[in-house]
This record gives sequence, C-alpha cells and structure tokens, in this order.
Amino acid sequence: MKKLFAAFALLLVGIQPTAQSDPKTAAFGWVDGNASTLNRVNRNIWTWAETGLEETKSSEELQTLLRSNGFSVEAGVAGMPTAFVASYGSGRPVIGILAEFDALPGLSQDLSPERTNRAGATAGHGCGHSVFGTASSGGAIAIKQALASGAIKGTVKLFGTPAEETGIGKTYMLREGIFKDVDTLLSWHALDKTMATWDYSKAMVSVKFKFEGLPSHASVSPHQGKSALDAVELMSVGVNFMREHVKEDTRIHYVITNGGGQPNVVPPSAEVWYYLRANKHTDVEEYYVWLTEIARAAAAMSRTRLIETRVDADLHEVLPNRTLVEVIQKNLELVGPPVFDEREKAFARATQKDLKPQPAQALADRVEPLSSGPPSQGVHSTDVGDLTWFFPVGQFTAATYAYGAPGHSWQIVACTGMSIGEKGMLVAAKTIAGSAIDLYRSPELIQRAREDLKRTVADQKYVTLIPEGQKAPKTIR
Ligand SMILES: [Zn+2]
Repeated sequence: MKKLFAAFALLLVGIQPTAQSDPKTAAFGWVDGNASTLNRVNRNIWTWAETGLEETKSSEELQTLLRSNGFSVEAGVAGMPTAFVASYGSGRPVIGILAEFDALPGLSQDLSPERTNRAGATAGHGCGHSVFGTASSGGAIAIKQALASGAIKGTVKLFGTPAEETGIGKTYMLREGIFKDVDTLLSWHALDKTMATWDYSKAMVSVKFKFEGLPSHASVSPHQGKSALDAVELMSVGVNFMREHVKEDTRIHYVITNGGGQPNVVPPSAEVWYYLRANKHTDVEEYYVWLTEIARAAAAMSRTRLIETRVDADLHEVLPNRTLVEVIQKNLELVGPPVFDEREKAFARATQKDLKPQPAQALADRVEPLSSGPPSQGVHSTDVGDLTWFFPVGQFTAATYAYGAPGHSWQIVACTGMSIGEKGMLVAAKTIAGSAIDLYRSPELIQRAREDLKRTVADQKYVTLIPEGQKAPKTIR
C-alpha cells in the first residue's frame, strides 16, 4: 500500500526514481530501519513530560541518540542547560534542523482515548513536542547517512531548542549567535494534517508584572495594609476594557502566578503573567505600551508599587519562505502521508467523542495540496518566527493526532504517546531528510530561498521588546 502510494506520488510530482534519488532511499531506509529506536525515544520523552527549561532527561535522551550516531554535541548553549547543538559533517552548506521537546503544565493524560489523568504526572505533551524532537533528530541522522556516503556534501546541525511553549529557547539562542553560520533551517510541527506550512503566525510578547504592597491583618488592621493582589485585579479590569478597542486579531491572556498567601494577610506581593499577541509585531509593540500603562495605573489605584516589568520573550510573526515550502511539498508527496490502521482510527474516533461539530474523519489520510495564493494567517505563535527574519526557514506539519482535536489538549497527549503520533513522526523525519538532501544537491535553491527572505523582510525592521543584554531566564515559573 505504502509502496503503491509512493509510486503514485512520484508520478504526481514528476520525480523519477533514478540514481539521483539514492541518498534519499538510504536516508528513508535509515528511518524505517530505526523506527523502534525512534519510537522508544518518543515514549521516554512523552513519559517524562518535562516542562520548559526543566527538560533535562529529554534533552539528554536526544543528545545520546545523536552522539551514538556520530554527531558531536555541544550542550548547555546560550546559558540554558537543556539547549544544545549537534553537528555532523564539514563545510557549506550548513543546514540546521530545529527540535523541540518541552511539555505543557496541567496536561496530565494517560495513553487512553478517554480523558484520564496519568498517575504521577502533572504535565503532558499537549503540543506533540515529544514526536517533534524525536523526528527532527531522526531526520538529522538520516541526512548524516547521505553525507557519510559522500552522495552530498556539507554540514547538518540539529538545534535542541528548549522551552518553546514560553518562547524562550530559540529567542535566546538567536540572541547569543548560536545559529549564525547556518545557510537555511528546516522545521516541522505535530498537527492533525500533513502539509507544508504556508502561513504567518502571530507575534507575541510574554511579560510578567510584579506589584509590591504592605502586609497587615486583613480583619484587624486592613486600613494599614496595601494589597498587591488588588493591583493585579485592577489591571485585569483595565485590560478587559482595553480588549474592546484593539484590532480583532489581538489576543490577550494571563495567569496570576502569585496572588498572596492566605486571606487573613493582606498580600504584600503579587504577580501576573500576560501573553499579548497580534498578527503584526508592530501592533504588539503598540499594545505593549498600553499594557504597561494599565499596570502603572493599577498600582496607583491600589496605592501599591509596580516593582518589575519583565519581558521574558518577544516573538515575531513567521515569515514563510516559498522556495523552501515548495521543496518540502515535493518531499511530503514523495514520502506520502502516514497510513493509519483500523485500531488507530478507532482510538482517534474515541478521542473525538466530545468534539462539536464531530470531525468528518478520524485521522488525516492525505498530503494537503499547497496553495498557490498568498500565505494564510495562523493564530498560534512560535519562537521559530524570529529565526524566519534572519534565515530562510522551511516548515511543515505531519498528522500525529485525531482530526479536529483542539490545540494543547488531552487528545493530543494521548495520540502522541502511541503509534498514531509515531507514524506521523516517521513521515516528518523522512521529509526533513528528503528536503535537506534536495538543498545540499542544489545550492541554487538555497540562494533562491535567501532572495525570498530578502524580499519578504523588505524594509520591515526587527524590533525586540527584550532589553539589550538580557540573558535567558533560569526558570519560567
Ligand atoms: Zn508546539
């Protein structure tokens, strides 16, 4: 079935299976031959479910896999213990592959098609980063097979980028010059569809506001206390009124990370953490100023002090690259979509039970066609965005979970920890390898991708809200 589809895909895109496709055959063969290893790595990372900047075991697992396959690894780069760069080969071109591996808090979920907490786990891979990191590493090792055979020349670098969910990993790796010698970057993401990513993401700033008040007995001497929690609440009220007057594509969400200790002590300190998003970074810049003005006003109203405004991350919108997207599309069609069996379809169907409307299918079974129109607008944000302003970056998705499952959901955690996610993972590894091999073979494609980037950035200026010289945070929470 798979072979038949591959042959059909070859006809579709007009790629002839000549001697030229040999390095790809070797690379894809490596992925298939090592599927059980890759599945094991995914299950380990899925089980550990480590959140941002705490992905010690997950990062080490990928480093070990790469080292044992001949890569040299530099760990703890850009001041983050779980960030790493694994390299193989020498000379140009240098093709970089991005790997993510952080989990999400509050998403404990068993390997079950029902909503069930997993004993001992508070976090889960609700964004599919366990298959993300594993497929990217597998793809890099598959590329190495082609480099080692002499069929292609150059360097492959696998970038282990932690804490994507808080936009930290790539942001600080970029600031510290970790990507500086790459010619082009390839990345992918878990999704419910298999497709080349021809869309923009939203820009986003992650900012924490810390207020300081004065403690006192909340019943005996309330008049002598100043509540920092009041400032946080007043700020929320202000932001809720702000919402009415921002552009429709704006998103503002927050969590209170410190709201005081207990009710009979007027909270002397409180903290609130905001994500502010918009389609254009220029809008984020404008609304960010408004947000900080509301924070200061809330402090004035509660007679507390705003003692810290900390921008941990500031993400730019993804600028998609047409040349790379077309290379990826050809390779997705060559590899073919993941082929799911009846057991997997039944599992996916069961996870869709409460979705409204009911998705038309259990799992995606095709490679989506690539639109010839302008890029569409996504509603997510990613720290890949910042890289796209400096390097040609090609991205795609592979179906790794039930069709129509919400983002950051238990359904994604469940599917990512079993064969559904792993079938998509192998498609992703091969697509990365195939696309990279095309780029090694045709330096003119890299040149064209670079020209695309220049045209897209044009006269837009890259402005960051992160203060100059600021280093990566040591912890997030
Ligand atoms: Zn993600």
